[in-house]
Amino acid sequence: MIYLDNNATTALDRRVLEAMHAVSINKYLGNISSPHSYGQKARHLFLQAKKEILTFLNALDHDILFTSGATEGLNTIIQSVPDKAHIVTSSLEHAAVLESCKSKSRVTYLDPKSGRGSIAPEQIEQALLPDTALIVCMAANNETGVLSDIVAIAQLAEQRGIPFLVDGVSILGKGSISIPQGVSAICFSAHKIHGPQGMGCIVYKKGMKIRPLICGGAQQRGLRAGTENLSAIVGFAKALELASRDLEETVARMELLRNRLELSLGNVVVHGKDEPRVCNTSNIAFRGRDGETLLMQLDLAGVAVSYGAACASQSLQLSHVLQNMHVAPDLIRSSLRFSLSRETTLEEIDYVSRLLTVTDFTPNKFVSSATSSY
Ligand code: PLP
Repeated sequence: MIYLDNNATTALDRRVLEAMHAVSINKYLGNISSPHSYGQKARHLFLQAKKEILTFLNALDHDILFTSGATEGLNTIIQSVPDKAHIVTSSLEHAAVLESCKSKSRVTYLDPKSGRGSIAPEQIEQALLPDTALIVCMAANNETGVLSDIVAIAQLAEQRGIPFLVDGVSILGKGSISIPQGVSAICFSAHKIHGPQGMGCIVYKKGMKIRPLICGGAQQRGLRAGTENLSAIVGFAKALELASRDLEETVARMELLRNRLELSLGNVVVHGKDEPRVCNTSNIAFRGRDGETLLMQLDLAGVAVSYGAACASQSLQLSHVLQNMHVAPDLIRSSLRFSLSRETTLEEIDYVSRLLTVTDFTPNKFVSSATSSY
């Protein structure tokens, strides 16, 4: 199996699993809110994991709220905005942002300038109103990998005194993180960096007003009720530690492999190719081929890729990201997303490019050649 769908989710790292397992056994039995020594031991572990995560994110002066993932984190901040206040975001955002914004009455959705894969800071500036209460923008697009100019948007947000929420999911583990001054909150997800599914966090500026999405007990300073998922939090910290090790070399390797794949393919269109992109993502249109069929053929040959984002591809709708980038529908239908991880090998990339460059693509043929090399 060659797994090139790492923007959907990544394999849990064995070392992360071991760290989580150590928490789940009796040693750290307690609920972190319990006053007895078991609870206090667990609390110590929680605080340690929290500090480690903030350290790896270069955000020790920020606070952190653990959530069930980035979807919950993004929803929490968006739903903290008063109902009538104005929000500026883009039409390229993940469904976690777009769907949450639907419950708000005044949202400006910016489309990128023709052919581009991100929103220019000037577009955001022009869309601001006197009562704009939040700017929401992803650091990197999960479908194309195109990076947004978060630094410039943060500067603008700071000058205008407007809270700025960043969807940081697609940049974690793909480059060093430093949270610009004007960013009020940034959401991450553990399962995109070989951590556990169902775990994420909001890293936010101390003092930021957050309205709890989940009510109940007083956990996490009353901002998110429910017993903390300690083993997953520890797993997240371990996943970040591993992602931070040799980060520069890992990023350079992924980029090299991604570029090697693109260069090997000849007559294709790579969406967002001329813009700054994260190192692991390539969204490629295979002119004249049907993306869904190609995806199934690759699957039969043991290769997992994606047709748009995982959450939308079940419904096999045309990618809203490519549509809003004004890509022609035929080209969208012929597009597939390849997303690499630090575990992707040169042999895997070469195998996939051989599969894709052979004109007579019949799965059986590749199943037999696959068995000889994998
Ligand atoms: N934002 C982006 C860019 C994503 O790719 C995803 C997941 O695919 C999310 C948000 C939601 O993250 P989670 O799965 O942790 O809820």
